[in-house]
Amino acid sequence: MLTIHYNLCLGTILELGAERPELTAVLDELSRMDSIGVFLATELGYGNNVAELRTRAVYDPSTDDFVLTTPSHEARKFMPNTGLDGVPKIAVVLARLEIDSADEGVFPFVVRIRDENGPCRGIDVQSLGDKPGLALDNAVTTFRDVRVPRAALLDGPEPVIMPDGSRTGAVRSLRRRFNWAMTRVQTGKLCLTSAAAAAARASLFIAVRHGTTRRVNVSGGRSVPVMAFSTHQAQLLDALARTCAVTVLLNDTRRRASLRSLASVETKRAFAITKALVTWTAQDVVKTCIERCGARGMFTHNRISPYVALIQGAVTAEGDNQVVLLDAANEMLLGRGYTPPADQPGTGELDDPEFLIRLFRYRERVVYERAHAARKVGDDPFERTNRVGPLAAELGRLHGVRRALEEFHAVTQRANLPEIGVVLTSLLLRFAMAELDRDAAWHLCAGTLNRAQVREIPSFITRLDERLLPYAEDVVEAFGITNDVLRAPIASDDYVEAYAQLLPIPGLPLT
Ligand SMILES: Cc1cc2nc3c(=O)[nH]c(=O)nc-3n(C[C@H](O)[C@H](O)[C@H](O)COP(=O)(O)OP(=O)(O)OC[C@H]3O[C@@H](n4cnc5c(N)ncnc54)[C@H](O)[C@@H]3O)c2cc1C
Repeated sequence: MLTIHYNLCLGTILELGAERPELTAVLDELSRMDSIGVFLATELGYGNNVAELRTRAVYDPSTDDFVLTTPSHEARKFMPNTGLDGVPKIAVVLARLEIDSADEGVFPFVVRIRDENGPCRGIDVQSLGDKPGLALDNAVTTFRDVRVPRAALLDGPEPVIMPDGSRTGAVRSLRRRFNWAMTRVQTGKLCLTSAAAAAARASLFIAVRHGTTRRVNVSGGRSVPVMAFSTHQAQLLDALARTCAVTVLLNDTRRRASLRSLASVETKRAFAITKALVTWTAQDVVKTCIERCGARGMFTHNRISPYVALIQGAVTAEGDNQVVLLDAANEMLLGRGYTPPADQPGTGELDDPEFLIRLFRYRERVVYERAHAARKVGDDPFERTNRVGPLAAELGRLHGVRRALEEFHAVTQRANLPEIGVVLTSLLLRFAMAELDRDAAWHLCAGTLNRAQVREIPSFITRLDERLLPYAEDVVEAFGITNDVLRAPIASDDYVEAYAQLLPIPGLPLT
């Protein structure tokens, strides 16, 4: 809700209409949160294909305002959080502007959706009902001849109407106009990705701590923490290494974004690929953490399970992972802002990060070349790109993995204590091994790994786990999270005592 309010709604108004004195009152109202900001782009028939949306905004020169209309069921705004009674909402609504019956493309409009008394005149809001795990007042919103003033049109850098109401005659690029309207969706990708990565780290903080305090008896009469089980370690350490790697990737993407234009093809690619890799990884990590915490992992009071819906939302919202990954890969295949790596892998050892990076760079290039060649076959443009969809998606994913490895390696080089360098390198290698394991057969066929190396991968992973295990708690502590914030009983120093406080029975001993 906050990313929609601040980034999508306030962010769009500030970016495309901040200079407009008529909008000052609206900006103040949103800044004070007297009204909640919402963003209405998606329609029932226009989600990933939102560029084709059908909500109409017809300019009326006689009154110098716009008339917003929903022309069909398919064009009803589907999803945005406009449904809660008693909460005033101001929206940025994306609509197709018509002037003199000409389609001028998609523009954002500032529209008051509801006040304390309910939806405003001409606006119909119907709740979409329950969405388990991620409580937002999602609704379907319909416009019937809703008039908004000229100042509500956020036409930003390329005004579309002159002060006298005539068209400016600016060079029309409907695609560019659409991209402007959606400009904050780029930043939104980073917001949701950051939330998903944070959820993965919090889940690991809880699961690793619980793994060291939840004890069970084993043969020989000893009691051990469940983290002592090699199966438990393997899954949590794999999740830990992957979470560290994607966090490093995300931090690097954020840092680079501050140096470049948000509209550059490189930034868009980095945001898309980072979003896909981080949120999909977070999805796996959170599932693993719930399961490794047993029944307790399923309860809201232990925090992890609500992250499932949060991350599912992040996978789909602000550009569905699959679609943004394909878009990014297709741009790479067209050579826009991308040159495939040229270096040869050569030979090396599995514990050499530079050799591993060369392997991933080589595989990225080969997948690029295969996809590039396959795209040239056939006449139909859709068939050409669609046939290489799985390869293109793999190219996008591999590019993200390679970037994560390169940046992780740079981070290990900056470690200020040797022991920290060892832990970080072990995490890097653990992540690289999990990825290499997926492609081991390919590398064997390509001759980039020999049979002994492929055979060694599982035992190398086990050795890395042994090396990482004593540091697992330190790593999750280093995330900077404390249980004062999470308040998860299972992440307490003594989870039985935490439950005794949560659900007290006076006089009953702890054990
Ligand atoms: C938590 C959450 C909050 C949201 N908040 C907002 C909001 O505030 N405002 C707003 O306007 N919208 C919001 N949305 C809607 C969101 O933008 C859309 O869900 C998203 O754009 C995907 O559209 P869709 O749901 O119609 O999926 P569809 O477009 O119907 O996609 C369905 C499936 O088809 C696949 N697919 C579709 N096109 C392609 C393609 N070209 N290539 C390959 N596969 C394809 C997708 O991968 C997906 O698996 C929100 C969504 C979520 C989950």
